[in-house]
Amino acid sequence: MSECVFCRIAANKQQADIIFEDKDCLAFEDTNPQAPVHFLVIPRTHIETLLDAEPEMLGKLMRKSADLAGQKGIDKSGFRAVINCGRNAGQTVYHLHVHVMGGRWFAWPPG
Ligand code: 5GP
Ligand code: ZN
Repeated sequence: MSECVFCRIAANKQQADIIFEDKDCLAFEDTNPQAPVHFLVIPRTHIETLLDAEPEMLGKLMRKSADLAGQKGIDKSGFRAVINCGRNAGQTVYHLHVHVMGGRWFAWPPG
């Protein structure tokens, strides 16, 4: 899937500000941040949406999202960990990713 932007980042073919990586997943700064802290956590393998993900991978992504929120210092104040799935949710990159955002107050319900 060389045309997938997140596969390209995972394969080191496209630059990203990577904050964590291991054999299963990686995390990097979002290029269009919606909050003072906004990074993405993705599986290394190409999984299109939440609908396609196995429980084990979802567990890893969410656990890592929380750990990295702690490293970024937004765990105590609170943060959002969001997966957009499909058109109505506004998913634009069809490679599964968790948005982790913090450093400001977020409205609920979301727009
Ligand atoms: P979605 O709308 O699919 O849930 O979120 C996709 C996210 O990926 C957006 O927040 C967007 O700013 C981010 N994004 C898109 N292309 C790139 C890229 O090439 N590099 C990085 N670091 N983030 C990207
Ligand atoms: Zn991909």
